[in-house]
Amino acid sequence: MRDRIYLCLAHMSEDGMEQKYVKEAFDTNWVVPLGPNVNGFEKDLEAFVNRIEASPEAFVEGGDLEEASLTHKVVALSAGTAAVHLALIACGVKAGDEVIVQSFTFCASSHPITYLGAKPVFVGSEAETWNMDPALLEQAIVDRKEKTGKYPKAIIPVALYGMPYDCERIMAIANKYGIPVIEDAAEGMGSRFNGQVLGTFGKYGVLSFNGNKMITTSGGGALICENADDANTVMWYATQARDAYPYYQHTAVGYNYRMSNVCAGIGRGQMTVLDAHIAHHKHVQALYEELLADVEGIHMHKQPADPRYDANFWLCAATIDADVKIQGQENAYKEVITSAVGGAAGVIHAVDSATTDCQPNENVEALRIFMLEKNVECRPLWKPMHKQPVYEGAAVYTNEVETNLFKVGFCLPAGPCVSDDDVRYIVECIKEAIVK
Ligand SMILES: *Cc1c(COP(=O)(O)O)cnc(C)c1O
Repeated sequence: MRDRIYLCLAHMSEDGMEQKYVKEAFDTNWVVPLGPNVNGFEKDLEAFVNRIEASPEAFVEGGDLEEASLTHKVVALSAGTAAVHLALIACGVKAGDEVIVQSFTFCASSHPITYLGAKPVFVGSEAETWNMDPALLEQAIVDRKEKTGKYPKAIIPVALYGMPYDCERIMAIANKYGIPVIEDAAEGMGSRFNGQVLGTFGKYGVLSFNGNKMITTSGGGALICENADDANTVMWYATQARDAYPYYQHTAVGYNYRMSNVCAGIGRGQMTVLDAHIAHHKHVQALYEELLADVEGIHMHKQPADPRYDANFWLCAATIDADVKIQGQENAYKEVITSAVGGAAGVIHAVDSATTDCQPNENVEALRIFMLEKNVECRPLWKPMHKQPVYEGAAVYTNEVETNLFKVGFCLPAGPCVSDDDVRYIVECIKEAIVK
């Protein structure tokens, strides 16, 4: 049997740069949540996010191809979730406020809104990018103002599986109503729109370095800030919000969210392979697109034809038509699952039913099980947040594009650990799973 092919695994540099920086942290006794690696990692991240590639439009029009650059600052933090939390605080979100967030996402986009006693307002997706639908966004803004007398305090679009949202229209709408944008680019590190990195369009941009993201620090995150003042505010909240006295004096509630110098060492090493990782994710996507092109009923989630879109393809996603029969489909959802699908970290609450009122179609579940028997990890798409019991009763503006995608979609392995041979094997397994 082949080794298990995982969805997306951490992948260290060939020359062990991560260990070199981690060793330096130990050798110099900087085993704390600050230090040379944290500073160095932030500098590397700033260089990366501030580089604007000559836009595809410039190439088309034969325009000025000189590379421009931005002046954003980056604060390294203990997690991407912490970055979302601090961005909300920096936007002045308080208990009772409303924050607009893409419904089709991982829970870390919306949970921090709840940490603050604020209320998420969920916005549905457009069919092309699977991300926040600009028309629904505007409808939500106008309707919330009408119903509550106030505008939402922030807008959180999410680069789902790395796909850029419509940066142009979302930013135009946000600016029209004067609402700050917090870009959740946790999955979209290095994805670009018109040559510019996601996370640099809004007031804040969230990155994650969890074990399965584009690069890892074992666990960690960062917040991209527009300027040094904002970065200072975020850093202050991330380090317990202290005032300048010889003793600990606090005028606000702070957090212990700074990144460890040991983790940042891993991050510095990972920055040397980030470009190669992005290139490999794109390569794997292209190969899936080629090999699955003539498999009837299976459709890869592709990037829009508009040349401004440049996805990192963190995960490769696809959909399967409802009428495609998969081997073993009659047994799908017959048994209660006793372990977590996907990230098995931590504790998962046991359940006593095998189904919920909103779940992937039976052929999607059957495909997941079939592929697992072939030692390939496939996973359902994120279940929309407005369909989660924990958010029952939250305001929602949607055409249910994301709910319908959730029923037919699945994720395929991607990333530097997936070889061309793996992709060919995975595609052959999918073909074998389909009942002719
Ligand atoms: C991973 C992720 C985050 C933050 O993740 P951490 O695990 O806390 O680093 C936030 N939003 C999305 C969409 C994510 O996928």
